[in-house]
Amino acid sequence: MENNSITFLNNSAKECNLCPRNCKIDRFGKKTGICGVNTLRYCAANLHYGEEPTISGNNGSGTVFFSGCSLKCLFCQNYPNSQYCYGKDISIDELSKIFLKLQKKNAHNINLVTPTHLSFLIIPAIINAKKLGLNIPIVYNTSGYENLFILKKIIKYINIFLYDMKYSDNRLAAKYSGVVDYVENNRRSFEFILKSKKNRFNKDGIMQEGIIVRHLVLPNYIGNTLEVLKYLSPFKEQIYISLMFQYFPTYKAGNYPKINRKITRAERSKVLKYFNALKFPQGWVQEL
Ligand code: SF4
Repeated sequence: MENNSITFLNNSAKECNLCPRNCKIDRFGKKTGICGVNTLRYCAANLHYGEEPTISGNNGSGTVFFSGCSLKCLFCQNYPNSQYCYGKDISIDELSKIFLKLQKKNAHNINLVTPTHLSFLIIPAIINAKKLGLNIPIVYNTSGYENLFILKKIIKYINIFLYDMKYSDNRLAAKYSGVVDYVENNRRSFEFILKSKKNRFNKDGIMQEGIIVRHLVLPNYIGNTLEVLKYLSPFKEQIYISLMFQYFPTYKAGNYPKINRKITRAERSKVLKYFNALKFPQGWVQEL
């Protein structure tokens, strides 16, 4: 079963379709696709206390930040790593050891940040680490630009999804993240995850399985946020939602006047009014 999954991922990486970009390049070769990295490259691995409380808990989330990204968000707050691909190359075995080290530090989980484009190397590291005693939940912390075909193969290795829902409008996705098909891919995979994972917690309230949907509110695009909330509303009993107002202009956002500022109080109020009217029962709302 496990070898089948690795073979499947290796085949997918040979003519890469690991994300919906479908670059069809050989990820074992020198040429990179739009995500910019073929090697198992990471920029940091540590205990992270700033995730949602049910993920970070008291001990912290064992976070591994990977380099490269299949999205090209002009406002990316992690752009040196995601867009310039800064980081350190390691082997699959070394990544397994990093997971085990984080577990030894009492991390509540292993939190894979931007894993999609490197899934063909990360999943084997998870399999190895499990053989060596890794037994804490695996968190897939993703931009939400997922190829359902791949997700169906790897979902058995993932316990929790921290799942971005950035856009409800592909025109915005095209303008600010360089993809024309975000919404349909994002929603299709989301609905599959919902069917596959049920929210489950340990006695200390730390999530063991489930899905948290994250949405970052963009300035001047409150309509985008309201449409995301409207779409999520029928699923509100099944998800935890994390509504984020932390946006600040960085990377190339300064070249785009509409996103070249923070969220205003009036924008936040408008979002919260709608959010409260929809009565989302569980989740977190960030302060400005
Ligand atoms: S993972 Fe990278 S190379 Fe593969 S399809 Fe996506 S952007 Fe292209």
